[in-house]
Amino acid sequence: MWNLKTLFGKKYKLAVLMYHHVGPVTDENERKYFISPDMFARQVSLIKEKGFHALTLEEVEEAFLHGTEIPDKSVLITLDDGWLDNYEYAYPIAKESGVPITIFLSTALTGCDPELLSWEQVREMRESGLVSFASHGATHKRLRNLSDNDITAELTQSKQTLEEFFGKPVVSFCYPFGAVDSRVRPLVFKAGYKLDYGTRKGLNRWPWTQRKPLLRAHVFNDESLEDFFRELTRGRK
Ligand SMILES: [Zn+2]
Repeated sequence: MWNLKTLFGKKYKLAVLMYHHVGPVTDENERKYFISPDMFARQVSLIKEKGFHALTLEEVEEAFLHGTEIPDKSVLITLDDGWLDNYEYAYPIAKESGVPITIFLSTALTGCDPELLSWEQVREMRESGLVSFASHGATHKRLRNLSDNDITAELTQSKQTLEEFFGKPVVSFCYPFGAVDSRVRPLVFKAGYKLDYGTRKGLNRWPWTQRKPLLRAHVFNDESLEDFFRELTRGRK
């Protein structure tokens, strides 16, 4: 991973974009979490036009675990919770553009709520090679509010479900509500995860030191494409 750029102090950067819904607003109280399909398509096009490299989750994990390089201007598109609209609207845009996306699933809720993804949809998206999945806990609880045992149950249950479903190790975990503290975080690694994703804003300097969870750039409704570009390049507006 050492090369001229890192030797001279210029580190690579990884923007992890945080989305929830892509689709028409179906819940006015949660409006800010809905990105219209048209805006999502424009954002994905901008990523390509401006020469950013949209990575798969596996590429980010590989770079972290084995110290391989990532290109400068790297982006990971993440969507939290596993909403049905991710399948209906984000997935077709990923297919059309060839830009990969990552969905963090609350595994005990998946397939149990008509507003969320079914396991068949998860499988179909995974098989396309354009959609990766990782853990968002089992039941989307604020881990900070739970006992150590309950936290560990949330972490291991969801890891096990995904590993059995996909037949491969799952090493990325995203905190529901971004609720993490110095008690919760070590339990995540103890459960076998290697990379954790929070909700604090910013870009990640690479190679990643892991002193804190990966920072994300928040994408919200009612933001212009210029706002989005600032998020992408600065991690904040
Ligand atoms: Zn969530």
